Amino acid sequence: MAKKIQCDRCAGLCCRYFALPLDTPEDKDDYDDIKWYLCHKGITVFVEDGDWYLNIKNKCRHLTKDFRCAIYNKRPKICRGYKHIDCDFVEGEYDYELHFISDRQMDEYIKIKFGNNKTEKSGSKRKRKKKRAKRKGASKGKR
Ligand code: SF4
Ligand code: SF4
Repeated sequence: MAKKIQCDRCAGLCCRYFALPLDTPEDKDDYDDIKWYLCHKGITVFVEDGDWYLNIKNKCRHLTKDFRCAIYNKRPKICRGYKHIDCDFVEGEYDYELHFISDRQMDEYIKIKFGNNKTEKSGSKRKRKKKRAKRKGASKGKR
């Protein structure tokens, strides 16, 4: 489908969220941090190809009411590089290895993963989370 026609039929799905890579959780504290992220509205966490991502549902301020980009000629590089052929509209649901949509889900996961192991030591230092922003799938050439 030609890009123009394809985007004309879409409500700008690719402009309604962004994803940030997370350090792979290693201990119970790391998972508990993720549980805290998931306490917040509009946040989900997914794992794809073994990599963890924080997904933030938040519409771009430049997406217009008729689903156009208000800064098209000045839009960020990551938007320019998006491969519409593999876009969200065409691809549909992603095949995540894991997808957490609530803190309760993470609670269950922690219980299964760590059981009632009270002796598990807390993670040493809190790791600095990477702040490198990227579009979901950017590394796979989706955008
Ligand atoms: S998700 Fe795909 S079809 Fe929709 S606006 Fe973005 S590139 Fe166009
Ligand atoms: S800058 Fe434009 S293309 Fe990029 S996310 Fe915002 S509305 Fe979409």
